[in-house]
Amino acid sequence: MKVIDTVSGCRKFFDADSNKVGLVPTMGYLHDGHISLVRRARDENEIVVVSIFVNPAQFGPAEDFKDYPRDMDSDLRLLESEKVDLVFAPSVGEMYPEGFMTHIDVGDVAKRLEGEYRPGHFRGVATVVCKLLMIVKPQRAYFGQKDAQQCAVLKKLNLDLNLGCEIIVSPTVRDQSGLALSSRNSYLSSDEYKVALLVNQGLFSAKRLWESGNTDAGQLICSTRQIIESSPYILVEYLSLVQAETFVEIDQATEGSLLCVAVRLGETRLIDNVIFAF
Ligand code: AMP
Repeated sequence: MKVIDTVSGCRKFFDADSNKVGLVPTMGYLHDGHISLVRRARDENEIVVVSIFVNPAQFGPAEDFKDYPRDMDSDLRLLESEKVDLVFAPSVGEMYPEGFMTHIDVGDVAKRLEGEYRPGHFRGVATVVCKLLMIVKPQRAYFGQKDAQQCAVLKKLNLDLNLGCEIIVSPTVRDQSGLALSSRNSYLSSDEYKVALLVNQGLFSAKRLWESGNTDAGQLICSTRQIIESSPYILVEYLSLVQAETFVEIDQATEGSLLCVAVRLGETRLIDNVIFAF
């Protein structure tokens, strides 16, 4: 496995004819959710590239960019054992040299839910992912369903700018209690962890309700909210039933609809979602 931290070095790694490159963009502090993407990329491509870059452009001024967990040594050991070919781990200066001024604003799909609560977040995500796709030029790029709106935004970016990459979305990996794995789970105290489980419990109870024939957004949201807010320590930022490509809110759940939630639990912000599908 090679580790490269410059754009020019990264470009030179690929021979001009290679056409089976899979990219897994990450911010590091890898867990089994990331590794599921890496394994899928390993199965489906000749060359697997994982990027590790905590992208300052996608954090708001009051957010956790500085405190975001990082452990490059452990990440590299993990990726080596997964037979990754290249880790692209640029510095902030390498990605955003002095004078950098071009940003990508994806339209309406990036303005809803996360876009409302984290202004500028998707601008930072779309910009860095576009740069990574330009640098690595993968045929496929892998993302997690846990960040469902990010997937919708990046699919639109890829389509609208003719980037020509296949955007592959992989299922959310959860721990044994159902909590969606996230690097930010490391912020949770053991008491907060127990409370956080209400998020997935609420979402999955809505899914069961839908499976039993209830499609009404109001009722699905209300029953989920009751479960999540049964703890006074959780603050729900949004809980919405949306159409999966556009993130437009809908009032009836159909096959493929998403119930998405963002909560605050102490200092930690968590997001999760469930797809209504049989
Ligand atoms: P991050 O390092 O948090 O930016 O995540 C990098 C990629 O891993 C993104 O595409 C995420 O959606 C994906 N990812 C994060 N957590 C999970 C999870 N629990 N299951 C599946 N994919 C995940």
